[in-house]
Amino acid sequence: MARTYAIVNQKGGVGKTTTAVNLAAIAAEQGLRVLLVDADPQANATSGMGIDRSNLEACIYDILVADPDSLSSDTVEGIICHGPLDLLWVLPATIDLAGADMSLATSIAREQRLRRALSCLANQYQIVIIDTAPSLGLLTVNSLTAADTVLIPIQCEYYALEGLSQLLHVVRLVQADLNPSLRIEGVVLTMYDGRTNLSRQVAEQVRTHFPGRVLDTVIPRNVRLAEAPSHGLPAVLYDSHCSGSMAYRALAKEVFTGEKEGSGKRS
Ligand code: ADP
Ligand code: MG
Repeated sequence: MARTYAIVNQKGGVGKTTTAVNLAAIAAEQGLRVLLVDADPQANATSGMGIDRSNLEACIYDILVADPDSLSSDTVEGIICHGPLDLLWVLPATIDLAGADMSLATSIAREQRLRRALSCLANQYQIVIIDTAPSLGLLTVNSLTAADTVLIPIQCEYYALEGLSQLLHVVRLVQADLNPSLRIEGVVLTMYDGRTNLSRQVAEQVRTHFPGRVLDTVIPRNVRLAEAPSHGLPAVLYDSHCSGSMAYRALAKEVFTGEKEGSGKRS
């Protein structure tokens, strides 16, 4: 089975999609077969991979609301699109996904729809990365239920820690009831600006709050990361050598192999 990562934080604008899209592209560049799952109705991961949502006849919504017993590898594969690298595929979203919480409200096994759909794919992908919506609703619960590992991007700004206790509470509920093997890989500090006291203070505060859980790699604020989506490319393909791309490569190394850049120590 593929190793599955959910990139989660119910706050919007913290760098979830940027993290998901770039980690997916880096893994594919490194020769792994990667599926990026877009579980956010805003569909930024889909468009960020250069996929035109208006041309899609079906999206992740259709497999979430389908009768789980009717799903096959062919039905799920039929919705998957090829991304901008040979080994990179995307299970896309469209705005239709905004109706998922309502449509699934009274459905059987409603929290396990994504897990069941991905399990149809057997060994076709080695890494699955799920970009999640800015909420703790059913879509995010589906993402956590389908995942092995959670990665939490935190923006180095005021109120960074706000809402994290609810997020951890939901992770614990999912661990208790739906997915006991779910693990928190850690917190990724994003949009760090070393010139400001604020970024340094927030980083310190987050490290104090999550001792040993904050990944060593810090993602800097870098305009190339913000420009890349308008070109329909992950930043690591748009500008391979910018500071943001370099940081995401270091993060990929840390997340996928457990290795650190530089010192080799675990914090
Ligand atoms: P989320 O998915 O959590 O809502 P995004 O990844 O979409 O967050 O990021 C929010 C906005 O900030 C986007 O416009 C994105 O391009 C930009 N952005 C993300 N990370 C960085 C960064 N490290 N430096 C500069 N801009 C960033
Ligand atoms: Mg997003």
